[in-house]
Amino acid sequence: MTIIKIMLLAALWPLLLAQTPEPFFRPRELTPSYVAWLRSMNYLPPVEFDHEYKGELKVVRATQSGLREACPGTFKPGNIAIGCALVYPASCVIYLADDKFMQMINYDVEIALRHERAHCNGWHHPR
Ligand SMILES: [Zn+2]
Repeated sequence: MTIIKIMLLAALWPLLLAQTPEPFFRPRELTPSYVAWLRSMNYLPPVEFDHEYKGELKVVRATQSGLREACPGTFKPGNIAIGCALVYPASCVIYLADDKFMQMINYDVEIALRHERAHCNGWHHPR
């Protein structure tokens, strides 16, 4: 009897997985072609800036108003605020929109973090 139950559960498992909503946001997979497109759009930085930051790095998650307060003049009125970086000689503070907002606009936090971390690493890009 127990074996039958286990087999039944095993048979139903893919179905259960398919019907259970993800408990967390799963962003689009970063395939090589998607990464190339993200780089071409300056969402992801060039390879030479896309690496760990050697100084002290602080990441702060913030609301839209919190981001505008932390980085005045960075975001045009009416535009959404995803992230900004305050770059100091030996440290960097990255402000990123909170998960609620990122999921609402379907934006991958990893992409935003790598973008802002590249600014910490000295990357500049046209607006
Ligand atoms: Zn930027």
